[in-house]
Amino acid sequence: MAARRVCSHTLKPPGRHALAALMYTEDTIAAIATPQGPGGIGVVRLSGPQCVAIAAAVFRGRRPAHEWTSHRMYRGMILDVAGAALDEALAVHMRAPHSYTGEDVLELHCHGSPALVRQVLARVLCCGARAAQPGEFTKRAFLNGRLDLAQAEAVIELVQARTGDAAQLAVQQLGGRLSTHVDNLRTQLIHLKALLEAQIDFSDEDVEVKQVELLGCINKSISIVTKSINTYSHGKLLREGVRVAIIGKPNAGKSSLLNALLGEERAIVTPIAGTTRDAIEEAVDFDGIPVVLTDTAGLRQMEHADPIERMGMERTGGTIAASQLLLPVLDASAPLDAADHTVLETARGLPAVLVLNKIDLGPPVFEPIAVAAGMPVVQVSAQQRSGLPELRRAVIAVATSGLTVEHGTPVLTNARHHAALTQAVDSLQLARQSISAGQTADLVAVDVQDAIDHIGSITGIVTSEDVLDRIFSEFCIGK
Ligand code: GDP
Repeated sequence: MAARRVCSHTLKPPGRHALAALMYTEDTIAAIATPQGPGGIGVVRLSGPQCVAIAAAVFRGRRPAHEWTSHRMYRGMILDVAGAALDEALAVHMRAPHSYTGEDVLELHCHGSPALVRQVLARVLCCGARAAQPGEFTKRAFLNGRLDLAQAEAVIELVQARTGDAAQLAVQQLGGRLSTHVDNLRTQLIHLKALLEAQIDFSDEDVEVKQVELLGCINKSISIVTKSINTYSHGKLLREGVRVAIIGKPNAGKSSLLNALLGEERAIVTPIAGTTRDAIEEAVDFDGIPVVLTDTAGLRQMEHADPIERMGMERTGGTIAASQLLLPVLDASAPLDAADHTVLETARGLPAVLVLNKIDLGPPVFEPIAVAAGMPVVQVSAQQRSGLPELRRAVIAVATSGLTVEHGTPVLTNARHHAALTQAVDSLQLARQSISAGQTADLVAVDVQDAIDHIGSITGIVTSEDVLDRIFSEFCIGK
């Protein structure tokens, strides 16, 4: 049986993804879908009309590829061009339209040697497949109406999620939570526009839509969109995480603290002052929030530093500027000196948690509250790994202070969605002003249509080739 030809227009919902007809090239694409590096298995994935023909050419199993049942795994050999076995593998054919892309999809599951997987990819490319562009599988899924644009973006968020909470949000978005929310909003605005159009079309027949009713509709929409916009800070935090710089004079215990928070020996810990010469970065999960911890070179007086230390300290300035939260670390077993005061001064007025380290050596030799200057204070022993849960909680409390989470409103995580809703609110506010100023219905309708278009851009009802290229270029190859 020949590979079934999938036409995008037969799959896409009527009127949706008008770009599909323009952008679709019906060739067969292929890419390695698993990460670079050795692994248990390596997957080469194909999508397009030649899947079965290529499977027949490269894979020898008990049943020929054209007799395979869709979505069922077959064991066999992947063959090189001379017919010799490259690997024993599993193959699965997912027949259109019941596949991720909506086209015929073939997956070859080989042993996970990077060299072998590359050979298998080369083999399918020789048989007529084309190397896929980043995100091209998901782009095809979008163009075929299998996913809307917000769902397609959820795929990349899911792949890149750094914590379970971030993954959870992406799964909800992939399941259509955001899409349903914005579709409902769009429907409300279409209803509003219909009211306005009724006024335009039948103005001679004295069809008067009350100003109050129009304003009520607009206000309701503005309130819903604003609630969505307000979730973005929280979503951004979950998606991008918070950058935290550990600062302190040499030997305060910064590297030890980083190691303790990471639970592994990543930064060098030595008793010689000034050994962390450069910034060391690590991403960790603080109760669902991705945190990028940076251990900086010790802040001490420049004149006492050697040239390499000085470079490290200059870089510390940049790291602090790029951080959203500081962890100034003091050695609580020794009286404060000038370098400690520089550290405290650096953190003053910024989001920070003051860490009093080496508490295993006894209670702080100075009064914590007196030095904290309003910062939350946590006492820890990096060496004994005590006080760390309290420190994590304090960091989260500072990082999330002032963020609102609206109950029942999907959390926005994507800058494009945030920008679209902000533009929608701007258009709705213009519409509100026009109604209040007694402007004609057709003028108001223009702004309402703008808001409808901005909201429609989230799910891709209204989109352009440029926007799609930008979105899908962020994907990895093979997704
Ligand atoms: P950094 O220069 O600020 O990065 O400091 P390090 O992490 O390299 O630590 C300097 C010294 O202090 C090392 O000898 C550590 O073992 C010691 N140290 C770090 N944290 C603690 C702690 O909590 N308690 C004690 N007693 N010693 C610590």
